Amino acid sequence: MTHALKPGDMIGVLGSGQLGRMIAMAAARLGLRTHIYCPDPGPAFDVCALHTIAAYEDEAALASFADSVGVVSYEFENVPAKTAAFLAARRPVRPGARALATSQDRFVEKTFLNDIGIATAPFAAVDSLDDLHAAVTRLGLPAILKTRRFGYDGKGQVMIRDERDLAQAFDAVGAAPSILEGFVPFAREVSVIGARGLDGSFAAFDVCENEHEDHILAHTMVPARIGAETARAAMDMAGRIAAALDYVGVITVEMFLVEDGGAERIVVNEIAPRVHNSGHWTIDGAVTSQFEQHVRAICGWPLGSPRRHGRIEMRNLIGQQGNGWEALLREPGVCLHLYGKHEARAGRKMGHWTKVTPEG
Ligand code: AMP
Repeated sequence: MTHALKPGDMIGVLGSGQLGRMIAMAAARLGLRTHIYCPDPGPAFDVCALHTIAAYEDEAALASFADSVGVVSYEFENVPAKTAAFLAARRPVRPGARALATSQDRFVEKTFLNDIGIATAPFAAVDSLDDLHAAVTRLGLPAILKTRRFGYDGKGQVMIRDERDLAQAFDAVGAAPSILEGFVPFAREVSVIGARGLDGSFAAFDVCENEHEDHILAHTMVPARIGAETARAAMDMAGRIAAALDYVGVITVEMFLVEDGGAERIVVNEIAPRVHNSGHWTIDGAVTSQFEQHVRAICGWPLGSPRRHGRIEMRNLIGQQGNGWEALLREPGVCLHLYGKHEARAGRKMGHWTKVTPEG
């Protein structure tokens, strides 16, 4: 195995949130240490061997971070391209620059998906109000205007229902380079979380069904309510996307499940080049968790089995819901995860719980 790490070695992770924390915990279980790099302290700092607080533009700090680790990964997709390139000149960065560049820009991402034969919402680039008028003429309404870059949890996007609202909508996204997407009348939102190893092997967890509240993931159920053939097609799409990006690590593909007169089809919404909230259930509910799978992949190790232990329910604890931790401790069958965040601000992910019910 080329560039394979050994137990005792250090992995590097950019970002100090709960995803970095859970990657570091999975790494520790396999005898690996983690160095977290982030401009701000966060939940991952509590569980790592080393941390660096520095800007993503601080080349001296980046260089000594790279020197201390065998591989670099990240917990968020908005890693600046320059940071990734600087690190990649010193250590393998997994997933690589192609995955970052593709997932950071919605126009590039959707063009890539369509080029490899995967359906997305119809879309058009919007750089001006004139472009927006032309895009609405082409795609119709309702439609969603989204900034090309730096959108997450519904930020940087606005639904347009009325042709009179175009100027206001373009204003609402800060007149930033955007795309207009046709509205997809989906029955359910699902995601596929898979991992691609350094040797090109691919393993996906079963399709997750996701419910959002205020644009934030609230609830995940597995298996999703989806036909077996559609589920296989969805998992296969994730594998094709990962192969086309020459990907190493865990990849998440967010999808819409559309029902047309009894037939199901998948429309891909977006790619997250990282572990994902809809895969947190895998810690308690699968042979190998998404975090362990990511660690295995970036270390050049064989992937583990993604097999489920039963039916899964995962719920996020958002904002004040985090204060319910004492009652949750008393509930049989609840696997509770708290991220160690001190302040329960609105919209903040404080923890999650998972219930696994063995299938007959
Ligand atoms: P995104 O930031 O692209 O993940 O979008 C956030 C949420 O907005 C999605 O989870 C959907 O619920 C909704 N949404 C985004 N794009 C579309 C679309 N083209 N059609 C219908 N709903 C959408």
